[in-house]
Amino acid sequence: MSQLNPKTTHKEFGGLSGVLLITFGLPTLLIVFHQLINENYQTNLIADFDLDKILTFKRPLLEIVTDGKIWTFYLIWFVSLAILDVTLPGYYKNGVELRDGSKLNYLINGISIVSFLVILLASRFIITDGQLPELRFLYSNVLEFTIISILFSFIFSIFVYIYSFIPLIKPNKFNTKERILAAGGNTGNTIYDWFIGRELNPRIGPLDIKLFCELRPGMLLWLLLNISALHHQWLELGYVTDSMILINMLQAIYVFDGVLNEDGCLTMMDITTDGFGFMLCFGDLSLVPFSYSIQSRYLSLNNVELGLPLSIFILGLGVVGFYIFKASNNEKSNFRQGKLPNLKYIKTERGTNLLVDSWWKVSQHPNYFGDWIYSLTWCLSTGFANPINYYYSIYFGALLLHRQKRDELKCQEKYGKDWEKYEKEVPYKIVPYIY
Ligand code: NDP
Repeated sequence: MSQLNPKTTHKEFGGLSGVLLITFGLPTLLIVFHQLINENYQTNLIADFDLDKILTFKRPLLEIVTDGKIWTFYLIWFVSLAILDVTLPGYYKNGVELRDGSKLNYLINGISIVSFLVILLASRFIITDGQLPELRFLYSNVLEFTIISILFSFIFSIFVYIYSFIPLIKPNKFNTKERILAAGGNTGNTIYDWFIGRELNPRIGPLDIKLFCELRPGMLLWLLLNISALHHQWLELGYVTDSMILINMLQAIYVFDGVLNEDGCLTMMDITTDGFGFMLCFGDLSLVPFSYSIQSRYLSLNNVELGLPLSIFILGLGVVGFYIFKASNNEKSNFRQGKLPNLKYIKTERGTNLLVDSWWKVSQHPNYFGDWIYSLTWCLSTGFANPINYYYSIYFGALLLHRQKRDELKCQEKYGKDWEKYEKEVPYKIVPYIY
């Protein structure tokens, strides 16, 4: 057995059958969402429910999947961002220590990329007198882009899986040419490992595929989809509703927070622990942009006016959620960098300390709690007529619960008795006094 890459014995998501269900279930759900939130469902989804509408596509599926224009746009978007990712200026930061004792170096240049895109969009806005043909094209072809991004996720994750078998050019610290595989993605079962992600940090030259996909093409496309919905409403009505402004603002803050504070992502479980397989590839490239933007799409078709009191309530809730999310994440990050020596902590045999003070005595994941509250504000911004808009908080709640369980398993294994001590000091997992 490889010293560097021990075989994975525990399977997540209910093993192969669960993985297959997610592989085909989630993309189907994404397409169904689009069928439920389009021109055909402008009023009450429940009262208007019609299976025929869901099963009838505006164009034959074969025509969509072979649409060269959509493929070209999508690939130009992906490849241009990849080029910008490795060429625009920034600074370098090391990731966490890997199993072979090495650390990867990451180019942190989110500010350059966002500035570049803002300048590009603002110039187009001026040149086209506010008509922005690219955004109109994106808005009217959302179904096409959704389907093509799903296909691309399948193709790209197959490529990355095959790539994980190609020996390294330079030997690693164990003096072999083996790549570092994800602890959870090395069962030997092709489909399972492809889904979970076999290689931990696949890189093509200077491009770190996982961090790139996590923060660039999907997140920025989500932002563009929201702006395209706002632009559509503005062209249709001649003004923009309060709900549309709110959803664009709340989600833009979230996107910019991720893209601009990218060095904070280097300690996230996705980067430190998960391999890059279909799960992350589809999540980053398809699920994030096309399901997280359904609220703005719905609002572009329904023109919801929330009124001042409800808008202020949602905004207030957003401030509370975002504050908990940011303050707790920053506190842990600063503590781990040795910047908060006065806070109470547990010294562990592994060497890393566990904070049991301030936000981190309230629950084991106060950051998840804040993040979830924030997610609720996106749903509330759509009003109460369409339950589909609430999908995000339900899905995200399930994702965070599953994530907490995975993290707990990891920490129990990693810290042993110290984790038991920690659990006594901080008994609640996510929501204080409830769970
Ligand atoms: P956490 O930030 O909670 O990190 C967990 C890790 O932190 C543990 O494995 C452990 O790692 C360390 N740790 C745990 N407890 C302590 C403590 N008391 N003191 C010091 N270190 C501790 O989880 P994630 O990485 O999953 O999430 C990061 C953020 O990203 C969250 O805010 C989450 O909400 C958000 N997120 C958002 C998603 C989205 O789609 N919008 C998806 C996923 C996450 P170690 O081994 O170093 O000890």
